[in-house]
Amino acid sequence: MHVIWIPFLFILGACVGSFLNVVIYRLPRGESIVFPASHCPSCGKTIKWYDNLPIISWLMLRGQCRWCSQSISPRYLMIELLTAVLVAGLYVCYFVLRLRDGIGTFYEDWPMFAAHAALLCGLLAASAVDIELFIVPLQVMWVCSAVGIAAATFRPHAFGQPVSPALATASAGAVIGLLIALVLLRLGWIQQSFLDADDKIITDDRESTVAITAQDGVNPRKEILREILFLTPAVVLGVAGYFIATRIGVVEGFCNELFGGTASGKVSVYLASGMGAVFGMLIGAAWIWGARIFGTLGFGKEAMGMGDVHILAAVGAVAGWKVATLVFFVSPFLGLFWAMHRFVARGKRELPYGPWLALGTLVVLLFYDVLVVFINRFGALIAA
Ligand SMILES: [Zn+2]
Repeated sequence: MHVIWIPFLFILGACVGSFLNVVIYRLPRGESIVFPASHCPSCGKTIKWYDNLPIISWLMLRGQCRWCSQSISPRYLMIELLTAVLVAGLYVCYFVLRLRDGIGTFYEDWPMFAAHAALLCGLLAASAVDIELFIVPLQVMWVCSAVGIAAATFRPHAFGQPVSPALATASAGAVIGLLIALVLLRLGWIQQSFLDADDKIITDDRESTVAITAQDGVNPRKEILREILFLTPAVVLGVAGYFIATRIGVVEGFCNELFGGTASGKVSVYLASGMGAVFGMLIGAAWIWGARIFGTLGFGKEAMGMGDVHILAAVGAVAGWKVATLVFFVSPFLGLFWAMHRFVARGKRELPYGPWLALGTLVVLLFYDVLVVFINRFGALIAA
């Protein structure tokens, strides 16, 4: 079946890449991603379907608009090719090369594969926007998180990391806490930090982005206190959830019943797997948000963006808390190479952190088992 699936996924990936190009261009500019139909940004002519085929059309037109001959950015071709290679390549790595232990057949594990592929596509789009405009399109990461939670709930799989009933209850408490904080924010009872922490809409060129980001007269340490306040309900309810689920007999029994079933076919199996994804999302977000809070308090300068928080949350939701944690520790090393390169070859432009998290995710997804063996050996070495 590989002979059918690989070319099919390559073509599907190229089509997804074509859609990602639309997302990358329109989302940060506040335009709708469904309407109007693709048009040449230079002459405004609507692009016909035969000029809009992924990969092929760009090559046929030699990267020029059919009507006004204005050149079309090679980024369009690159994103389509990259997406196709990512989707088909992930299939090859998982189901042909079987890089990961415990993976089943494509028939069994396709929802998990689809979620992982969606995550990689989302990370590619987010990275492209981040590199160009230094913002992460949060909506893209929300979609990835939702896909991850849905896939884990729909079909618990080998890579899924179902959590204990107590942790599932704690996760539920934390999510309720976040929702409460969002409502309070909406009501204006608590204030938004930095003002650029949420999604910004880019109107003009990069000049305006820089102008929005560089807020003069803002005290980062004071701003970050607002975020601590925002997170307080989630932390309190999360901890409370854990304690009532472990200390109070009646609740414990109920939580065990709700999240703890291991008999196949029971609803609790699906709920436990889904809550595992929610837990992964929370842990992923917590790593970066924690680093952001401590970094900002320590250095008095805004450290790590909220976009990065959303990225690692999506990674955790799709691939579990262990993968998100590894990505948190692996990504700085990848970024370090670029930093050294930049140091040697002066004048290279600065890169945002999002793409390193994306690259880290790809590395950890593919080489998770190798990394775990390495960490265990390293741990044994230290313990000895
Ligand atoms: Zn044109």
